[in-house]
Amino acid sequence: MYKEVVQFIREVYHQPEGFIPLHEPRFVGNERKYVMDAIDSTFVSSVGAYVDKFEEMMSDITGAKYAVAIVNGTNALHLALQLTGVKNNDEVLTQPLTFIATANAIKYAGAIPHFVDVDMETMGLSPDKLAQHLEEIAEMRQGVCYNKNTGRRIAACVPMHTFGLPVYIDQIIEVCNTYNIPVVEDAAESLGSYYKGQHTGSFGKAGIFSFNGNKTVTSGGGGAIVTNDKDFAVKAKHLSTQAKISHRWEYAHDAIGYNYRMPNINAALACAQLEQVDSFVKNKRDLSDLYADFFSNFEDVKFMRETENSKANYWLNAIMLKDKKSRDAFLQYTNDAGVMTRPIWQLMNRLEMFKDCPKSDLSNAEFLADRVVNITSSVRINE
Ligand SMILES: *Cc1c(COP(=O)(O)O)cnc(C)c1O
Repeated sequence: MYKEVVQFIREVYHQPEGFIPLHEPRFVGNERKYVMDAIDSTFVSSVGAYVDKFEEMMSDITGAKYAVAIVNGTNALHLALQLTGVKNNDEVLTQPLTFIATANAIKYAGAIPHFVDVDMETMGLSPDKLAQHLEEIAEMRQGVCYNKNTGRRIAACVPMHTFGLPVYIDQIIEVCNTYNIPVVEDAAESLGSYYKGQHTGSFGKAGIFSFNGNKTVTSGGGGAIVTNDKDFAVKAKHLSTQAKISHRWEYAHDAIGYNYRMPNINAALACAQLEQVDSFVKNKRDLSDLYADFFSNFEDVKFMRETENSKANYWLNAIMLKDKKSRDAFLQYTNDAGVMTRPIWQLMNRLEMFKDCPKSDLSNAEFLADRVVNITSSVRINE
């Protein structure tokens, strides 16, 4: 099987030899034009026409009323959590199977990640496991949810749409609503992914996106917060610009803010890339169909597909192998053959920094962590 996979990937990428990376950016639209224009305008920093245009485009694409440009996805999540009311020594529910940025941002907000198991199909937070776990550990006091084992407040829940496969976000929000827990979606990986026809990231109190170099569309580095709450958006913009009160010459600040704004030169790149989001996603979805077809020939491999009612961007394609041993052999063979593959993240609760954090039964996450591998996923050129 390993040899056939390498052959198949080389075929679909028309690259019979040489190294094939896991995911590369594609600059085939107005990237050069807009970046040069930003330079010519002299507005290369956090104020400029492309920042405004980027925010409009993000609001259009996601259907969220407001979008705020942020310097990267990690800081977008930090700020979104702070604005959701997460405070020192609170707990924030999230999945253990995620990129480290999710757990780090929770720590930046002063809170403690509380890991809840994932679903076997979406690989994101499981609404059933969440409901079951809250049933066991939650205690309501005057409308506020506490963890009765630690005594700490549960201040938010951060589901993450793994590799662009949408989680069952409506069910997660329904569970959280029973406990008055606000939901902030980590949609860093899911630009162009929809659940029941609605864009991911636009369901909760707020959602965040990343435009890092390895994501579906990139601004070099960049992020965004989207929300339907005007006050939230206004505050996000304010706090991300050092909480500076707008004035023609005076330096006046009314809070401890951050330098979290996306520079205009990055926004220029982002605008050119966002113009291509539909064609990139279509290209990726076509590839995922080819993969699904191909892997249906192998009994011991499962190609991870979108669930019913969802439309994934297939940011990174993923397969699940039989066991850890075949996973390791697959990684070794493909990487030796010049086709980059990599395992899914190590579970957050197994990392030194997060090993003492509260958690639910994590049997699904543990199963997936040993078996799931990402395979080549760049947009194919000339398709
Ligand atoms: C990429 C990513 C982030 C962070 O984005 P940056 O822009 O790199 O800071 C956050 N969460 C998840 C799940 C990601 O994949």
